[in-house]
Amino acid sequence: MTSKTIDIDLDEIFSLAKAALIKHGANEENAEAVANTVTNAERDGSISHGLFRIPGYIKALQSKKVDGCAKPEIEEVTPVILRCDAKNGFAPLAHQYGIKKLIEAAQKFGIAGLAIQRCHHFAALWPEVEKISEHGLVGLTSVSYTPAVAPAGGTSALFGTNPMAFAWPRPGKNPIVFDMATASMAKGEIQIAARDGHAVPLGTGLSSSGELTTDAAEIDKGVLLPFGGHKGSVIALMIELLSGPLVGETFSYESKERDNGDGGPVQGGQFILAMSPKILSGKDTSDQTEQFLKKYNDIDGVRIPGARRHTNRKDTGPRKVNLELINTIKKLT
Ligand code: NDP
Repeated sequence: MTSKTIDIDLDEIFSLAKAALIKHGANEENAEAVANTVTNAERDGSISHGLFRIPGYIKALQSKKVDGCAKPEIEEVTPVILRCDAKNGFAPLAHQYGIKKLIEAAQKFGIAGLAIQRCHHFAALWPEVEKISEHGLVGLTSVSYTPAVAPAGGTSALFGTNPMAFAWPRPGKNPIVFDMATASMAKGEIQIAARDGHAVPLGTGLSSSGELTTDAAEIDKGVLLPFGGHKGSVIALMIELLSGPLVGETFSYESKERDNGDGGPVQGGQFILAMSPKILSGKDTSDQTEQFLKKYNDIDGVRIPGARRHTNRKDTGPRKVNLELINTIKKLT
């Protein structure tokens, strides 16, 4: 079964998202930051992190778990270490405030880290690293969430779907960007597959009784598996550590324990690193990188990560959005 969609312009997507957020108590600055993130996700074809997330953002405002008027504060701990207190707000405004300062520090000193605390992240991660790469820097980031993924060999969830994203700058060209959950599939994709009645590949997850299944609805009730067996599992473990104790925040299981279960994004931390290839290497390595990418692209069947989204981005026309979702969001405005 495929659900009905309607065509909707990007500025309408932005206005709809912003109106719903404002209606439920977000101020202009926060509503615009979140609506922008949602619109850019729809624009790039990351639909599981576009309008699909609005009902969850609204639940978090309704329950007062998230402060829709939060004003993030940045502390310069050392010249290269910044700490952002998101003040119990949604992540996009913390990014707007913190990444600007992170970029300045990395451009000056070659490397800089940003620890975001008390932040509710409910989006894709590529916007953070793409922003860093626009300034000639390499970006790396990770967040954890709530337990949904069983460590390799287990059947009970401990890891979040734990995404990480990386961007490498290419002057005058789109950056190389990857952004991926360390779960075999992002939770939002499972929910969309369950909603639309699509099967998922065997190995994606286990049912609530611990059996391998292709039924997305069963996996939604059960547990996901990490990508790539034990190798994905150890990367998911690293992300728990980077996004938790490294930045003074919670592991996925701790984020869940302190959450009110309203269905909106839980509070947690985010780790962001920016590095200057020019300062670290002591030279301009862009030609060397382009020669490598030429060899990469010359191989049949290969493409650069991020290229799908960057191609989608060129289309300024309307996007197809699930009709039921649009009706749900309209009722929230
Ligand atoms: P995908 O598996 O769809 O893609 C992962 C990456 O691989 C993308 O950067 C993609 O680039 C790239 N890629 C895909 N196919 C190829 C290929 N053939 N060659 C080269 N590169 C390729 O992503 P996921 O489903 O794992 O993640 C979905 C999203 O969910 C992410 O944006 C993630 O941040 C988000 N998420 C957010 C969470 C949160 O708590 N906030 C939790 C978990 C996930 P391209 O974009 O060009 O296709």
